[in-house]
Amino acid sequence: MSDAASTLIEAGARLAAESARYASMGWMRGTSGNLSEVLSWDPLRLAVTASGRDKGELTEHDVVVVDVDGEAVDGGVPSAEAGLHARVAAVSGAGAVVHVHALAPVLAAERWPDGVVLRDLEMLKGFGRAAHDDVVTIPVIPNGQDMAVLGEAFERGFRADTPALLVARHGVYVWGEDLLQARHRLECLEWLLRFATATSMNVVEGSS
Ligand SMILES: [Zn+2]
Repeated sequence: MSDAASTLIEAGARLAAESARYASMGWMRGTSGNLSEVLSWDPLRLAVTASGRDKGELTEHDVVVVDVDGEAVDGGVPSAEAGLHARVAAVSGAGAVVHVHALAPVLAAERWPDGVVLRDLEMLKGFGRAAHDDVVTIPVIPNGQDMAVLGEAFERGFRADTPALLVARHGVYVWGEDLLQARHRLECLEWLLRFATATSMNVVEGSS
């Protein structure tokens, strides 16, 4: 097996394990959601979970290599959402991007379509921000099926210190230097958004 092929299978194994974890949490119901890992930067290549598979049952072979536009370079069938993964990686420099259809992010985006504001919560540390006096706004963009349009909206709201994006009535993207950091950020953000929706916490209303 070539080095490139074994590297891809190793990435596929990590993506399958992470997908199974998120599926068990109810965040990748049906065949929803997708995870990716950057394989190379020049040219940009990402390993992305294959489309249309049960995310709790992926194997190391259920992975597709895509380019900067999210197009398959090895003949597999990536999710259309691979285009947004590639855009997020290219803009942020992240080594891994995770996209899940957890409920709390969608409820929060519904409640605060102009952005979800969080502050003064211990779990913000797990998202890479400060627990006190650090106002964090998670951007929200409208849903759509054209990843170029979503990518433009993402880029307009991008801040290097806020590694997450909510897509209204759809789901959440979170990124990090690798799948483990992305996982920790996602798990903490999901908790934060659950807290926000359960308490209707809104720092803008609360502090004005
Ligand atoms: Zn999705």
